[in-house]
Amino acid sequence: MGAERPHSASEVAAVIGSPIAHSLSPTLHRAAFAAAGLDWSYVAFDVPAGSGGAALEAMRALGLLGLSVTTPLKAEVAAAVDRLAPAASALASVNTVVREGDALVGHSTDGAGFVASLHAADVDVEGARVVVVGAGGAARSVVDALGRAAAAEVIVVNRTPERAEAAAALADVARIGALSDAAAADVVVNATSVGMGADELPFDVDALRPGQVVADLVYHPLDTALLRAAAAIGCRTVDGLGMLVHQAVAQQVLWTGSHPDPDLLRGAALAELSRRAAR
Ligand code: NAP
Repeated sequence: MGAERPHSASEVAAVIGSPIAHSLSPTLHRAAFAAAGLDWSYVAFDVPAGSGGAALEAMRALGLLGLSVTTPLKAEVAAAVDRLAPAASALASVNTVVREGDALVGHSTDGAGFVASLHAADVDVEGARVVVVGAGGAARSVVDALGRAAAAEVIVVNRTPERAEAAAALADVARIGALSDAAAADVVVNATSVGMGADELPFDVDALRPGQVVADLVYHPLDTALLRAAAAIGCRTVDGLGMLVHQAVAQQVLWTGSHPDPDLLRGAALAELSRRAAR
């Protein structure tokens, strides 16, 4: 899949979005380039809503290796690239831009990154019954990827039912449901943005059962109130840094053709997070 043009000694990749200062993408990708022995650069550009197309033109003009794309640009970049890979096309959302000859191709690696983070934690989603709480951009990528990974059933639970319907339409095996569906699930995912506060729970943990896998997409803090409560009940937990790391691994594969060690990237991200906490 990766870029077809021969790489030079001084490739540059970047993340675009706004705000961008908090992004861990530079940390992850610089660690991956260094581990691959590539003296390549990765920079962050604050690009506001409405300027995604111009950023793609800049990518062409400057000959950038690739782009990571984050909020609020994922949809507008999806509309502006030359071609979309299947997940990006289904989601109308792009988090990765890859050069293929003269064409800029948009990919979405978030959902595949989530599934890979479960696999890395020895959780097989094939044949699994999964409840996804939330129906925003992250939840949509997760529902799409669970469908592609042959989950048996995906049940979307969201505060706003219309958004749940739209997310559930992304996979044949998906339907909308209620929190009460969590009791019979193998895996329960928090894909809402609730959980950044120390004691903030996205849903009532009475819905959970011992032995279930509980995954949180929130990674700040890493040890969310949900994951702590789920572990106390006897659930297995998967934190949100896994998804972030594995979507970056997938981006590296697309840009360089090589597969960085996810543990190395996770270590770099954890070191950066503790540096920030100490400031
Ligand atoms: P989003 O598009 O804004 O969606 C937010 C979701 O949270 C919606 O389903 C929304 O419900 C729900 N929500 C927000 N406040 C709520 C509340 N008080 N009660 C119940 N539901 C509430 O955000 P997103 O981009 O999908 O991101 C969601 C989370 O995933 C964020 O914390 C983000 O940082 C994280 N994330 C992590 C990764 C990773 O790599 N680990 C990647 C992407 C995102 P309504 O539809 O009813 O508004």
